[in-house]
Amino acid sequence: MDASPETRESDNAPAKAPERSPVPRTILIVEDERAVRRLLRMILENEGYRCVEADTCQEGLLQAGQCRPDVILLDLGLPDGDGAALVERIREWSDVPILILSVRDREEEKVRALDLGADDYVTKPFGVQELLARIRATLRRAANARETPVFRSEELVIDFVAREVYAHGQKVHLTATEYALLVLLAKYPGRVLTHSFLLRNVWGPAYEKEVHYLRVYMARLREKIEKDPTRPCLLLTEPGIGYRLEAP
Ligand code: CA
Repeated sequence: MDASPETRESDNAPAKAPERSPVPRTILIVEDERAVRRLLRMILENEGYRCVEADTCQEGLLQAGQCRPDVILLDLGLPDGDGAALVERIREWSDVPILILSVRDREEEKVRALDLGADDYVTKPFGVQELLARIRATLRRAANARETPVFRSEELVIDFVAREVYAHGQKVHLTATEYALLVLLAKYPGRVLTHSFLLRNVWGPAYEKEVHYLRVYMARLREKIEKDPTRPCLLLTEPGIGYRLEAP
């Protein structure tokens, strides 16, 4: 690897000719299997995305900095290290959405990558429509993430300033812990948050393993905000991983 990470072109970049709108979104594909990369590129370019490829962690890190992608698709098994470590490195300076491409027998690695700040995952072999839907959802979330004081979906409204919650048009009374849990989920709408992330941030680092706390509190929250708590459509379970709040 001889590319110098020092080279930055932002200072003297000449004004570019106005681009066609919408400006194509750039997707960085970090994947060591050439056939998968080519397939992804074909699918994504067909949808109007611009693609940049990397086949190692090191190259992925370099490209994440140089081409400033709108989304990163990241394989976890890379020849020079594991993708979760790359998530950690990228999160030191960037909030770029990261979508994990995982295989079924590497659950632990997937959880670790989510814990370190990856946004979502698709399991290989993935369906094209599912992948595209996840990418669109990820892009939408990133666009909406600009700190708004209110979470608003059809069924659920959270006013972070007044600390008030409305479900299906009715005001809901939550305990401090229930509220903290819901607000944490609402800060990352649509994104799966791992058990340990939720426990650490709501109860504290000493409670990271107390998954049963979460089960109890999620059940209570569902009682209060779901129309049918036995068939939740707002607070969704990701078995073995964590929970997500359905995005608006
Ligand atoms: Ca691989």
